[in-house]
Amino acid sequence: MRKYIIGVDVGGTSVKIGKFNRAGDLLDKFSVKTDLSNHGANILKDIIQAIKENIATDEIIGIGLGVPGPVKNNVVIHCVNLGWGRKDLEKEVHSLINDENIIIQAGNDANVAAAGEMFKGIAKGYKNVVMFTLGTGVGGGIILDGKVVEGVNGSGGELGHIIVDQRHNFACNCGKKGCLETVASATGIVNLAKTRLAHSKVWSPLRKYEDFSAKKVFDCAKEDDAIGKQTIDEAMRYLALAMANVSLTLDPEIIVIGGGVSNAGEIILEYVNKYYYDYVNPFIKKANIAMASLGNDAGIYGCAYLIK
Ligand SMILES: [Zn+2]
Repeated sequence: MRKYIIGVDVGGTSVKIGKFNRAGDLLDKFSVKTDLSNHGANILKDIIQAIKENIATDEIIGIGLGVPGPVKNNVVIHCVNLGWGRKDLEKEVHSLINDENIIIQAGNDANVAAAGEMFKGIAKGYKNVVMFTLGTGVGGGIILDGKVVEGVNGSGGELGHIIVDQRHNFACNCGKKGCLETVASATGIVNLAKTRLAHSKVWSPLRKYEDFSAKKVFDCAKEDDAIGKQTIDEAMRYLALAMANVSLTLDPEIIVIGGGVSNAGEIILEYVNKYYYDYVNPFIKKANIAMASLGNDAGIYGCAYLIK
């Protein structure tokens, strides 16, 4: 009997796989290494093999996949991190697993993470959710009326590439300058701190290091270091600006902040809440901005939601 939903979060270094029951309770999880050789030709094969080793295929209701690239109608448009070009996931997974009755659904990883937070995380009970994922880059996910917004090109919710900065004009991976990602990702926060250090004579513990992480900048800010505080203040002001613009566009019920950078905790909300109202119109009465609660598992929960 079919009773399990499989959530597959495909990342550039590893693939996280979750086994869920019909209700969406996580029963088991395992992972496989992402084989980037030969343009990622083995990735799907390795995933299906790992699933088959753990779960009988005739017990699987469906498999949801989250991938780091634009996805439209279960077709990956391209996925630079994995070496993939256009890829029909539904067709390829069906042929690998050899069972047409298993439902296959796919989505962009950041959109899927937002779905996960709505399904079982901090946004549970809401149907209109925006999520910013602050990691090495900045991802975004939008859910409206319970449905992931894929957009016409599979690029709905690319919130990391909203342009918010016209002062530093740091180059973004997307080819533009001043994207949110260039000033609010882990990399962006470090760039802001280094710029500040270069243009100031004020001492900071950050000067002890040739290189440092965004976490270090947050730690300095928490310990009342001026450069640390100014850097976080600036980064979170950009984030608040992007959030206000998205709020005015979509008027969501909740905005969730996730990703590795969000481990810095409540300090993020302190700064973001401080600036959000400077940018948002009073039509949007109350900011409901919250930290994500599922951590790295948001992706697999969201993949399970795609099937549910
Ligand atoms: Zn960009």
